[in-house]
Amino acid sequence: METTASAADNENVKPESTDFISEAIAEDLKSGRYDHVHTRFPPEPNGWLHIGHAKAISVDFSMAQKFGGKTNLRFDDTNPEKEDMSYVEAIKRDIKWLGYDWEDREYYASDYYEYLYELAVKLIKKGKAYVDDLSEEEIRVYRGTAVADKNNITHTPPGKDSPYRNRSVQENLDLFARMRAGEFPDGSKTLRAKIDMAHPNLVMRDPVMYRIRRIPHYRVGNAWCIYPMYDFQHPLSDAKEGITHSLCSLEYEIHRPLYEWFIRECEVFPSRQIEFARLNITRTVLSKRWLLQLVNEKYVSGWDDPRMPTLAGLRRRGYTPEAIRDFMSRIGIAKTDSMVDIALLEHCLREDLNKRANRVMAVLKPLKLIIENWPEDKVEELDAVNNPEDPSAGSRKVQFSRELWIEADDFQEVPPPKYFRLYPGNSVRLRYGYIVTCTGFDKDPATGQITAVRCTYDPETRGGNAQDNRKVKGTIHWVSVRHAIPIEVRLYDYLFAVERPMDVPPGGSFLDNINPNSLEVIQTAYGEPCLADTKPEEKFQFERIGYFVRDPDNAGTKPVFNKTVGLRDTWAKIEKKVVGQSAE
Ligand code: ATP
Ligand code: MG
Repeated sequence: METTASAADNENVKPESTDFISEAIAEDLKSGRYDHVHTRFPPEPNGWLHIGHAKAISVDFSMAQKFGGKTNLRFDDTNPEKEDMSYVEAIKRDIKWLGYDWEDREYYASDYYEYLYELAVKLIKKGKAYVDDLSEEEIRVYRGTAVADKNNITHTPPGKDSPYRNRSVQENLDLFARMRAGEFPDGSKTLRAKIDMAHPNLVMRDPVMYRIRRIPHYRVGNAWCIYPMYDFQHPLSDAKEGITHSLCSLEYEIHRPLYEWFIRECEVFPSRQIEFARLNITRTVLSKRWLLQLVNEKYVSGWDDPRMPTLAGLRRRGYTPEAIRDFMSRIGIAKTDSMVDIALLEHCLREDLNKRANRVMAVLKPLKLIIENWPEDKVEELDAVNNPEDPSAGSRKVQFSRELWIEADDFQEVPPPKYFRLYPGNSVRLRYGYIVTCTGFDKDPATGQITAVRCTYDPETRGGNAQDNRKVKGTIHWVSVRHAIPIEVRLYDYLFAVERPMDVPPGGSFLDNINPNSLEVIQTAYGEPCLADTKPEEKFQFERIGYFVRDPDNAGTKPVFNKTVGLRDTWAKIEKKVVGQSAE
């Protein structure tokens, strides 16, 4: 039995759900490998965060939280070409929005350059690192590649030692100091770890630790002309911060022996790397590189375009942090990569919006409805419930008058089968109001276009009226012509026309899979007057249409609303199918 105080305390830590990371951490605490938990989220400030990062954030923060530990935010900023302060700001804003707090633990790998340099010198002194004069291309060739034999089994024949591999410690120390001092041109020398050029894992074949790059860094300017590589920097930054569990996505698995090698040879705090599956979602791409291309080549309006899978894009689309966190907990933490159906994300969103979004009426493609037996100037105020799922949301008054806008689709001159909306002779209920019966319509003889629908109302049928026992099959929404305000509505479809945009034939590009009709802007729409004084990010359900959010765009004369998601949930059907399959 363990008798140390910390181990005894840690016995009481019971993760609420079991996943392999929680189990590994619990085991480490039990065995005494660590007596506390400290994680980090390490974004590179070269783009905005996407929903894949939200997965990593949720894993990093929730693991620490579960075991009473802390989480650092560390900017992994050692690649000066693409990094920028604007990305740092965007990343911090988006993590906060998602609901996670790193408190005062904000760190930058670029603050560790001196520390990293010292450790590189230490490795040189131990005979574990050397300065190489091969070019980056030659290094690649010398390293060798994996080859498949006739049975399709891959082998990694040994690589070739660099002719500079056996330089003396003294010479290496001198050359490395001069690399830092700027005596050599870009790309002419590197510092490499001296490990094993015949190692079966190519990552272990004397990886490059430093390269010469005369590019100003967004934080340290021109202070350095040599920059550390990720594989060297990351484990040692973790160690510097006393990170116990360095959680990362699966593509780093083959780098783990190198992570451990640097920690061991540098004799620093023994951080442990654990990998989990990357999040992939259908109908989208989750890599900053591809997202940057969409932005730069103007397929979207920016990083926060509502069609983007970035956190800022999802936010502008009307997603809530709660819906995203719910999604993360439903997909769980897996050891193998998989593709999650975007319908599940939308399902989580609908569940959340259903609870929080007030209902209002808006008409996107308007057709005039004239109630012939309603007096010209009469206005009645009808009671409308704001949210049937939330009694505390109360109710509001909606003005009803002789002329209303209804959806053009809600009238047919000749009804198709099973059409329960308006057509000559048929009756429908106007939401919250009266039952009306269609008496005719006006048609422009030149164009054949229907310009107005005529009807009469039955005064006995006002919405909520106890004596109202007439049954009609259809209810349609409307807004009063005299009271409604014009609004701009932006309807979105998926940015990609196929489920897996990255599946392309040789020579193809994911851009070939772009959906050319992912945005439809509607300038004809009208909404209830209460939509006039709404604030960006306020969310609504436009009855019978879908969930909408007020956009921050104020450039035009009308308020803009983005369609977040439609009302019909496709997830239940998919889930049934998936469950059915696994039961077979
Ligand atoms: P990208 O491919 O989008 O550029 P990245 O891994 O290069 O992603 P970083 O800023 O280095 O971006 O990522 C920070 C952290 O987020 C890393 O720990 C990485 O493992 C994790 N991460 C990135 N994408 C995903 C994803 N799709 N699913 C889970 N974790 C991810
Ligand atoms: Mg990265």
